[in-house]
Amino acid sequence: MSLKKGLKTNPCSFILSIFLCCLFSLPLYATQSLQEVNLYSARKEALIKPIVDEFTQQTGIKVNLITGKADALLQRIKSEVRNTYADVFITTDAGRLYRAKSADVLQAIQSEALNRVISDNLRDPEGYWYGLSMRARPIFYVKGAVNSEELSTYEALADSKFKGRICIRSSNNIYNQSLLASMLAVDGPNKTQQWANDFVKNFARKPKGGDRDQIKGAASGQCDIAIANTYYFGKMITGKKADQKKAAEAMAIFWPNQTNRGTHVNISGAGITKHTKNTANAQKLIEFLVTKKAQRWYADVNFEYPVRKDVAASDLLKSWGDFKADTINLSQLDVNNAEAVKIMDRAGWK
Ligand code: FE
Repeated sequence: MSLKKGLKTNPCSFILSIFLCCLFSLPLYATQSLQEVNLYSARKEALIKPIVDEFTQQTGIKVNLITGKADALLQRIKSEVRNTYADVFITTDAGRLYRAKSADVLQAIQSEALNRVISDNLRDPEGYWYGLSMRARPIFYVKGAVNSEELSTYEALADSKFKGRICIRSSNNIYNQSLLASMLAVDGPNKTQQWANDFVKNFARKPKGGDRDQIKGAASGQCDIAIANTYYFGKMITGKKADQKKAAEAMAIFWPNQTNRGTHVNISGAGITKHTKNTANAQKLIEFLVTKKAQRWYADVNFEYPVRKDVAASDLLKSWGDFKADTINLSQLDVNNAEAVKIMDRAGWK
Protein backbone atom coordinates (compact mmCIF):
# COMPACT_ATOMS: atom_id res chain seq x y z
CA MET A 1 0.00 0.00 0.00
CA SER A 2 2.76 2.38 0.95
CA LEU A 3 4.74 1.45 -2.23
CA LYS A 4 1.76 2.30 -4.40
CA LYS A 5 1.41 5.52 -2.51
CA GLY A 6 5.11 6.21 -3.00
CA LEU A 7 4.79 5.56 -6.73
CA LYS A 8 2.00 7.96 -7.04
CA THR A 9 3.70 10.61 -5.05
CA ASN A 10 7.31 10.23 -6.31
CA PRO A 11 7.87 8.24 -9.58
CA CYS A 12 11.46 9.49 -9.90
CA SER A 13 12.55 7.91 -6.62
CA PHE A 14 11.04 4.56 -7.71
CA ILE A 15 13.04 4.59 -10.99
CA LEU A 16 16.14 5.65 -9.10
CA SER A 17 15.75 2.80 -6.63
CA ILE A 18 15.42 0.24 -9.48
CA PHE A 19 18.53 1.70 -11.12
CA LEU A 20 20.49 1.52 -7.86
CA CYS A 21 19.25 -1.96 -7.21
CA CYS A 22 20.49 -3.14 -10.64
CA LEU A 23 23.77 -1.30 -10.26
CA PHE A 24 24.59 -3.11 -7.02
CA SER A 25 23.13 -6.50 -7.80
CA LEU A 26 24.97 -6.97 -11.14
CA PRO A 27 28.49 -7.00 -9.74
CA LEU A 28 27.26 -9.12 -6.85
CA TYR A 29 25.89 -11.68 -9.29
CA ALA A 30 29.08 -11.61 -11.34
CA THR A 31 31.22 -12.10 -8.24
CA GLN A 32 29.13 -15.03 -7.08
CA SER A 33 29.31 -16.83 -10.40
CA LEU A 34 33.07 -16.36 -10.58
CA GLN A 35 33.63 -17.78 -7.12
CA GLU A 36 32.94 -21.30 -8.34
CA VAL A 37 34.75 -23.77 -10.48
CA ASN A 38 33.28 -26.87 -12.08
CA LEU A 39 35.48 -29.92 -12.03
CA TYR A 40 34.90 -33.09 -14.06
CA SER A 41 37.04 -35.74 -12.44
CA ALA A 42 37.75 -39.26 -13.60
CA ARG A 43 39.28 -39.82 -10.18
CA LYS A 44 36.88 -41.21 -7.62
CA GLU A 45 35.35 -38.73 -5.21
CA ALA A 46 37.35 -40.06 -2.25
CA LEU A 47 40.58 -39.45 -4.19
CA ILE A 48 39.90 -35.82 -4.99
CA LYS A 49 37.16 -34.30 -2.79
CA PRO A 50 39.18 -33.81 0.42
CA ILE A 51 41.82 -31.80 -1.40
CA VAL A 52 39.35 -29.66 -3.38
CA ASP A 53 37.52 -28.96 -0.11
CA GLU A 54 40.82 -27.65 1.22
CA PHE A 55 41.07 -25.42 -1.87
CA THR A 56 37.60 -24.02 -1.13
CA GLN A 57 38.55 -23.37 2.48
CA GLN A 58 41.66 -21.47 1.48
CA THR A 59 40.26 -19.47 -1.42
CA GLY A 60 36.50 -19.25 -0.88
CA ILE A 61 36.05 -20.69 -4.39
CA LYS A 62 33.41 -23.40 -4.39
CA VAL A 63 34.21 -26.52 -6.42
CA ASN A 64 31.30 -28.33 -8.06
CA LEU A 65 32.65 -31.83 -8.45
CA ILE A 66 31.31 -34.26 -11.02
CA THR A 67 32.98 -37.66 -11.04
CA GLY A 68 32.68 -40.42 -13.62
CA LYS A 69 34.60 -42.71 -15.94
CA ALA A 70 37.28 -40.96 -17.97
CA ASP A 71 35.87 -41.73 -21.41
CA ALA A 72 32.29 -40.89 -20.39
CA LEU A 73 33.34 -37.52 -18.95
CA LEU A 74 35.36 -36.71 -22.05
CA GLN A 75 32.37 -37.64 -24.21
CA ARG A 76 30.20 -35.37 -22.09
CA ILE A 77 32.55 -32.40 -22.52
CA LYS A 78 32.63 -33.09 -26.27
CA SER A 79 28.85 -33.22 -26.55
CA GLU A 80 28.35 -30.10 -24.42
CA VAL A 81 30.66 -28.25 -26.85
CA ARG A 82 30.55 -24.49 -26.15
CA ASN A 83 28.03 -24.88 -23.38
CA THR A 84 30.13 -27.24 -21.36
CA TYR A 85 29.66 -26.99 -17.65
CA ALA A 86 33.22 -28.22 -17.07
CA ASP A 87 36.01 -25.77 -16.34
CA VAL A 88 38.64 -28.35 -15.37
CA PHE A 89 39.05 -31.96 -16.48
CA ILE A 90 41.08 -34.34 -14.31
CA THR A 91 41.96 -37.83 -15.45
CA THR A 92 44.68 -40.42 -15.15
CA ASP A 93 47.27 -41.41 -17.72
CA ALA A 94 48.86 -39.06 -20.23
CA GLY A 95 47.23 -41.15 -22.97
CA ARG A 96 43.78 -40.05 -21.81
CA LEU A 97 44.84 -36.42 -21.46
CA TYR A 98 46.08 -36.64 -25.03
CA ARG A 99 42.66 -37.92 -26.12
CA ALA A 100 41.12 -34.81 -24.57
CA LYS A 101 43.68 -32.56 -26.25
CA SER A 102 43.11 -34.21 -29.65
CA ALA A 103 39.35 -33.96 -29.21
CA ASP A 104 39.92 -30.18 -29.07
CA VAL A 105 38.19 -29.73 -25.72
CA LEU A 106 41.17 -28.33 -23.81
CA GLN A 107 42.96 -25.00 -24.01
CA ALA A 108 46.65 -24.25 -23.60
CA ILE A 109 47.55 -22.19 -20.57
CA GLN A 110 50.82 -20.67 -19.50
CA SER A 111 51.43 -20.74 -15.79
CA GLU A 112 54.70 -19.86 -14.15
CA ALA A 113 53.50 -21.60 -10.96
CA LEU A 114 52.91 -24.88 -12.82
CA ASN A 115 55.97 -24.72 -15.07
CA ARG A 116 58.24 -24.04 -12.09
CA VAL A 117 57.30 -27.16 -10.10
CA ILE A 118 56.25 -29.75 -12.69
CA SER A 119 59.14 -31.29 -14.63
CA ASP A 120 59.03 -30.80 -18.38
CA ASN A 121 58.42 -34.49 -19.06
CA LEU A 122 55.28 -34.57 -16.87
CA ARG A 123 53.37 -31.86 -18.71
CA ASP A 124 52.25 -31.15 -22.24
CA PRO A 125 54.90 -29.08 -24.06
CA GLU A 126 52.14 -26.79 -25.34
CA GLY A 127 50.46 -26.36 -21.95
CA TYR A 128 47.25 -28.31 -22.65
CA TRP A 129 47.66 -30.59 -19.63
CA TYR A 130 49.75 -30.81 -16.47
CA GLY A 131 50.74 -33.79 -14.33
CA LEU A 132 49.49 -33.62 -10.74
CA SER A 133 50.74 -36.93 -9.35
CA MET A 134 52.99 -39.69 -10.59
CA ARG A 135 52.71 -43.48 -10.51
CA ALA A 136 55.14 -46.15 -11.63
CA ARG A 137 54.36 -49.42 -13.42
CA PRO A 138 57.04 -51.81 -12.20
CA ILE A 139 57.32 -55.59 -12.12
CA PHE A 140 55.88 -57.42 -9.10
CA TYR A 141 57.07 -60.93 -8.32
CA VAL A 142 56.10 -63.65 -5.89
CA LYS A 143 58.65 -63.78 -3.08
CA GLY A 144 60.35 -67.15 -3.16
CA ALA A 145 59.10 -68.08 -6.64
CA VAL A 146 61.34 -65.64 -8.48
CA ASN A 147 64.90 -64.66 -7.76
CA SER A 148 65.17 -60.92 -8.34
CA GLU A 149 68.38 -61.59 -10.23
CA GLU A 150 66.28 -63.26 -12.93
CA LEU A 151 64.72 -59.87 -13.63
CA SER A 152 66.21 -56.88 -15.44
CA THR A 153 64.04 -55.04 -17.97
CA TYR A 154 60.54 -55.03 -19.47
CA GLU A 155 62.21 -56.20 -22.67
CA ALA A 156 63.68 -59.25 -20.89
CA LEU A 157 60.20 -60.45 -19.85
CA ALA A 158 59.83 -61.74 -23.42
CA ASP A 159 62.49 -64.37 -22.72
CA SER A 160 61.19 -67.93 -22.97
CA LYS A 161 62.30 -68.62 -19.37
CA PHE A 162 59.18 -66.70 -18.32
CA LYS A 163 56.82 -68.87 -20.36
CA GLY A 164 53.46 -69.22 -18.59
CA ARG A 165 54.64 -67.10 -15.66
CA ILE A 166 53.26 -63.62 -16.35
CA CYS A 167 49.92 -62.00 -15.39
CA ILE A 168 48.99 -58.73 -17.08
CA ARG A 169 45.71 -57.04 -17.91
CA SER A 170 44.28 -56.63 -21.40
CA SER A 171 45.63 -54.53 -24.23
CA ASN A 172 42.62 -52.23 -24.28
CA ASN A 173 43.80 -50.77 -21.01
CA ILE A 174 45.54 -47.42 -21.39
CA TYR A 175 48.23 -48.29 -18.80
CA ASN A 176 49.60 -51.11 -20.96
CA GLN A 177 49.22 -49.05 -24.12
CA SER A 178 51.34 -46.32 -22.54
CA LEU A 179 53.92 -48.83 -21.33
CA LEU A 180 54.24 -50.18 -24.86
CA ALA A 181 54.35 -46.65 -26.28
CA SER A 182 57.34 -45.93 -24.01
CA MET A 183 59.12 -49.03 -25.34
CA LEU A 184 58.31 -48.02 -28.89
CA ALA A 185 60.05 -44.68 -28.35
CA VAL A 186 63.32 -46.42 -27.46
CA ASP A 187 63.22 -49.79 -29.22
CA GLY A 188 61.42 -48.78 -32.44
CA PRO A 189 58.51 -50.58 -34.16
CA ASN A 190 60.24 -53.79 -35.34
CA LYS A 191 61.90 -54.64 -32.06
CA THR A 192 58.74 -53.74 -30.09
CA GLN A 193 56.59 -55.93 -32.36
CA GLN A 194 58.96 -58.86 -31.89
CA TRP A 195 58.96 -58.23 -28.14
CA ALA A 196 55.15 -58.19 -27.99
CA ASN A 197 54.90 -61.40 -30.04
CA ASP A 198 57.21 -63.21 -27.61
CA PHE A 199 55.87 -61.53 -24.45
CA VAL A 200 52.32 -62.73 -25.19
CA LYS A 201 53.59 -66.32 -25.30
CA ASN A 202 54.66 -65.94 -21.67
CA PHE A 203 51.19 -65.08 -20.37
CA ALA A 204 49.96 -67.46 -17.68
CA ARG A 205 46.33 -66.84 -18.60
CA LYS A 206 44.15 -64.80 -20.91
CA PRO A 207 44.34 -61.16 -19.74
CA LYS A 208 41.45 -60.29 -17.43
CA GLY A 209 40.65 -57.93 -14.57
CA GLY A 210 42.45 -54.84 -13.34
CA ASP A 211 45.91 -54.33 -11.90
CA ARG A 212 44.93 -55.63 -8.46
CA ASP A 213 43.71 -58.85 -10.10
CA GLN A 214 47.16 -59.44 -11.58
CA ILE A 215 48.74 -59.19 -8.13
CA LYS A 216 46.03 -61.46 -6.69
CA GLY A 217 46.53 -63.92 -9.56
CA ALA A 218 50.26 -64.11 -8.85
CA ALA A 219 49.80 -64.47 -5.09
CA SER A 220 47.32 -67.30 -5.65
CA GLY A 221 49.82 -69.25 -7.74
CA GLN A 222 48.49 -68.57 -11.25
CA CYS A 223 51.69 -66.78 -12.24
CA ASP A 224 54.98 -65.59 -10.73
CA ILE A 225 55.12 -62.11 -12.17
CA ALA A 226 52.54 -59.33 -12.43
CA ILE A 227 52.65 -55.86 -13.93
CA ALA A 228 50.72 -53.22 -12.00
CA ASN A 229 50.72 -49.58 -10.99
CA THR A 230 52.30 -48.79 -7.65
CA TYR A 231 49.28 -47.12 -5.99
CA TYR A 232 47.22 -50.32 -6.33
CA PHE A 233 49.92 -52.16 -4.43
CA GLY A 234 49.92 -49.41 -1.77
CA LYS A 235 46.15 -49.61 -1.40
CA MET A 236 46.14 -53.39 -1.20
CA ILE A 237 48.83 -53.53 1.43
CA THR A 238 47.27 -50.85 3.67
CA GLY A 239 43.60 -51.57 2.91
CA LYS A 240 40.94 -53.33 4.95
CA LYS A 241 40.37 -56.23 2.53
CA ALA A 242 42.21 -59.17 4.07
CA ASP A 243 42.54 -61.12 0.79
CA GLN A 244 44.11 -58.14 -0.99
CA LYS A 245 46.46 -57.41 1.88
CA LYS A 246 47.57 -61.03 2.01
CA ALA A 247 48.13 -61.10 -1.76
CA ALA A 248 50.19 -57.92 -1.71
CA GLU A 249 52.27 -59.18 1.19
CA ALA A 250 53.26 -62.20 -0.87
CA MET A 251 54.77 -59.94 -3.54
CA ALA A 252 57.90 -57.83 -3.94
CA ILE A 253 58.63 -54.95 -6.30
CA PHE A 254 61.32 -55.00 -8.93
CA TRP A 255 62.22 -51.72 -10.63
CA PRO A 256 63.01 -52.58 -14.25
CA ASN A 257 65.34 -50.86 -16.70
CA GLN A 258 67.53 -49.28 -14.02
CA THR A 259 70.64 -49.58 -16.18
CA ASN A 260 69.08 -47.82 -19.13
CA ARG A 261 66.03 -45.52 -19.47
CA GLY A 262 64.36 -46.25 -16.10
CA THR A 263 61.03 -47.68 -14.95
CA HIS A 264 57.90 -46.61 -16.81
CA VAL A 265 55.95 -43.87 -15.02
CA ASN A 266 52.74 -42.08 -15.80
CA ILE A 267 50.61 -39.36 -14.23
CA SER A 268 47.22 -38.21 -13.16
CA GLY A 269 46.76 -34.76 -14.62
CA ALA A 270 44.48 -31.87 -15.42
CA GLY A 271 43.59 -29.49 -18.22
CA ILE A 272 41.32 -26.47 -18.57
CA THR A 273 38.42 -26.83 -20.98
CA LYS A 274 38.51 -24.85 -24.20
CA HIS A 275 35.09 -23.28 -23.68
CA THR A 276 35.27 -22.46 -19.98
CA LYS A 277 34.08 -19.03 -18.99
CA ASN A 278 36.07 -19.32 -15.81
CA THR A 279 39.72 -19.71 -16.81
CA ALA A 280 41.12 -17.76 -13.85
CA ASN A 281 39.54 -19.94 -11.16
CA ALA A 282 40.19 -23.10 -13.18
CA GLN A 283 43.88 -22.21 -13.26
CA LYS A 284 43.87 -21.38 -9.55
CA LEU A 285 42.50 -24.85 -8.80
CA ILE A 286 45.16 -26.64 -10.86
CA GLU A 287 47.89 -24.48 -9.33
CA PHE A 288 46.59 -25.34 -5.87
CA LEU A 289 46.86 -29.05 -6.66
CA VAL A 290 50.63 -28.74 -7.04
CA THR A 291 51.19 -26.75 -3.85
CA LYS A 292 53.30 -28.54 -1.25
CA LYS A 293 50.24 -29.23 0.88
CA ALA A 294 48.25 -30.82 -1.95
CA GLN A 295 51.23 -32.83 -3.10
CA ARG A 296 51.76 -34.08 0.45
CA TRP A 297 48.12 -35.24 0.44
CA TYR A 298 48.51 -37.09 -2.87
CA ALA A 299 51.60 -38.79 -1.51
CA ASP A 300 50.09 -39.86 1.80
CA VAL A 301 46.51 -40.66 0.87
CA ASN A 302 46.67 -41.78 -2.76
CA PHE A 303 50.00 -43.63 -2.56
CA GLU A 304 51.25 -41.69 -5.55
CA TYR A 305 54.59 -39.99 -6.08
CA PRO A 306 54.53 -36.19 -5.90
CA VAL A 307 55.32 -34.39 -9.15
CA ARG A 308 57.23 -31.82 -7.09
CA LYS A 309 60.82 -32.74 -6.36
CA ASP A 310 60.71 -30.84 -3.05
CA VAL A 311 57.94 -33.05 -1.63
CA ALA A 312 59.05 -36.50 -0.47
CA ALA A 313 57.17 -39.71 -1.18
CA SER A 314 55.29 -41.30 1.71
CA ASP A 315 57.11 -43.63 4.11
CA LEU A 316 55.44 -46.66 2.51
CA LEU A 317 56.58 -45.68 -0.98
CA LYS A 318 60.05 -44.89 0.34
CA SER A 319 60.18 -48.40 1.81
CA TRP A 320 59.92 -49.79 -1.73
CA GLY A 321 63.28 -48.19 -2.48
CA ASP A 322 64.51 -45.44 -4.76
CA PHE A 323 64.34 -46.03 -8.45
CA LYS A 324 65.28 -44.36 -11.67
CA ALA A 325 62.14 -43.28 -13.54
CA ASP A 326 61.93 -43.04 -17.31
CA THR A 327 62.13 -39.34 -18.18
CA ILE A 328 60.58 -39.61 -21.63
CA ASN A 329 58.21 -36.70 -22.22
CA LEU A 330 54.81 -38.28 -21.61
CA SER A 331 53.40 -36.50 -24.64
CA GLN A 332 55.58 -38.87 -26.67
CA LEU A 333 53.51 -41.79 -25.37
CA ASP A 334 50.43 -40.12 -26.77
CA VAL A 335 51.99 -39.79 -30.17
CA ASN A 336 52.92 -43.49 -30.09
CA ASN A 337 49.57 -44.74 -28.76
CA ALA A 338 47.97 -45.77 -32.06
CA GLU A 339 51.07 -47.69 -33.15
CA ALA A 340 51.28 -49.37 -29.72
CA VAL A 341 47.68 -50.58 -30.01
CA LYS A 342 48.35 -51.99 -33.50
CA ILE A 343 51.42 -53.87 -32.24
CA MET A 344 49.44 -55.41 -29.38
CA ASP A 345 46.64 -56.46 -31.74
CA ARG A 346 49.07 -58.06 -34.18
CA ALA A 347 50.73 -59.92 -31.30
CA GLY A 348 47.35 -61.34 -30.24
CA TRP A 349 47.42 -59.55 -26.87
CA LYS A 350 43.75 -59.74 -25.97
FE1 FE B 1 44.16 -46.92 -11.97
